Amino acid sequence: MSDSSFITIASFSFPHEAHIAQASLEAEGIPAFIADEHTINMQWLFSNALGGVRVRVPREFAEKAREILAQDYSQLLDEEFGKDDIHCQKCGSANVEPYTEGKKPAFLVFLLLGFPLFFYRHGVKCKDCGAFSKT
Ligand SMILES: [Zn+2]
Repeated sequence: MSDSSFITIASFSFPHEAHIAQASLEAEGIPAFIADEHTINMQWLFSNALGGVRVRVPREFAEKAREILAQDYSQLLDEEFGKDDIHCQKCGSANVEPYTEGKKPAFLVFLLLGFPLFFYRHGVKCKDCGAFSKT
């Protein structure tokens, strides 16, 4: 299969994000492939320098794939955060926003364990008291 018949339609910093995008595309009948995942897993700290984990599709599907990702991917993120049901675990406020902890803790985990387990932590941050709540 010629590599030139595929084009990159999205790139992500972490493999699991690319997998969500891939699942969204395949649910719509578009064959999607993840490029560079092996490289990222082995040398994930350099993912940004490499342009991240790329999602590629056959050229003829590119336009539709971009439309799907523009719609469904953001929808999946909203579902993941469950905006409507989340309250601050400290003060009970519903005035929270999606929050992802930075890369520095992940870097330490990587050094300790040798692989990036828990490198990406979702939760919400309370706008009233500033507390972080895991989702
Ligand atoms: Zn709070």
